[in-house]
Amino acid sequence: MEKELVVLVEDELDLHELLRLHLERAGFLFKAFAEASSFLDFIRKNKPDLVILDWMLPDADGLELCRFLKNRDETKDIPVIMLTAKTEEIDRVLGLEMGADDYIIKPFSVRELVARVKAVLRRIHKPTEAIIKGGPLILDLDKHEVWLGEQKIDLTPVEFNLLRILLSRKGWVFTRDRLLDLLWSGEKVVTERTIDVHIRNLRRKLGEAGEMIKNIRGVGYKFEEN
Ligand code: CA
Repeated sequence: MEKELVVLVEDELDLHELLRLHLERAGFLFKAFAEASSFLDFIRKNKPDLVILDWMLPDADGLELCRFLKNRDETKDIPVIMLTAKTEEIDRVLGLEMGADDYIIKPFSVRELVARVKAVLRRIHKPTEAIIKGGPLILDLDKHEVWLGEQKIDLTPVEFNLLRILLSRKGWVFTRDRLLDLLWSGEKVVTERTIDVHIRNLRRKLGEAGEMIKNIRGVGYKFEEN
């Protein structure tokens, strides 16, 4: 199997060598940049398998950089792990909205970071399974059917996709913005309010199982098995 390329954008040079050592040992190719500009030059011609992005860079805001990657066709499916010294909830929320795939809070253990890199890549490579389960719900992706025990639930295509997205990462909070993106990829002009309406209809149709779709106030929605 070809080695995967992990790229680090971070101005703390000590971390370059530390991560190089551990990621290469774990079987990855590794490349590090100390500032955003040289990294941006690099991704014009190269496509890394994963990017580890520091929040505070000398010449850029890591979040803006993340947003840039996620809004560009050539780079939007490259997973991004943000490094941040910040711990406030608001920053995690901001990161989610920019489309980051995971976070590591500084100071971190390198072992933990390597484990997260592997986990994110595993998630990306995992072949789509034809059957997804969540609590008593069963989604058959091939047939586009949802079953609650023996009972088949009739959902609209949007409701079905919404449920599929939430079930694809249980416990993960999807912001309304992200859901809009995933459902309509910016093609259709819809407001975040639209998401609330679809969620409400979906919950109603799912009955008691609908309670597993949780609203995270001011952020978005997640699916959590009871
Ligand atoms: Ca920094």
